Amino acid sequence: MGRGWQYTVGAMPEHDPPRSQELAARKRTDAADKAARDEAVRVVEQWNAAIAAGRGALWSPTIRCAVLAGTPWLDVYCPGCKTSRAIDIRTLDRHPLASVGSLVLGLRCSWCPGLAPMPALAGLHASLPTIRQSETA
Ligand SMILES: [Zn+2]
Repeated sequence: MGRGWQYTVGAMPEHDPPRSQELAARKRTDAADKAARDEAVRVVEQWNAAIAAGRGALWSPTIRCAVLAGTPWLDVYCPGCKTSRAIDIRTLDRHPLASVGSLVLGLRCSWCPGLAPMPALAGLHASLPTIRQSETA
């Protein structure tokens, strides 16, 4: 380096890095993105499995995790009218680090008259699940 470095916050490099460096940096970013996505997918799969096993109440992924995993559709089950509906969590005005489980606090079934029971979360999905009537377990 022919010149001294100034440690200025927010300083931009004066020259673009050489092409090869740039590509290497992009490759690293891609790999990091992929690792984060894979991790998010794993977390969502674990949560879905925990819910399916009746163990979903102990924890839940963050909104960011669900979006990153490509599963932004939250399946919500209303014990009152025994219907399931999916909510696109990307449309909710919540902090990305809020847990998916915390969303249930703001949800009320609009189909149930009067005091609807608190809905139960039934899992995260990549696409809009088909709306189904009560399933006999
Ligand atoms: Zn309902």
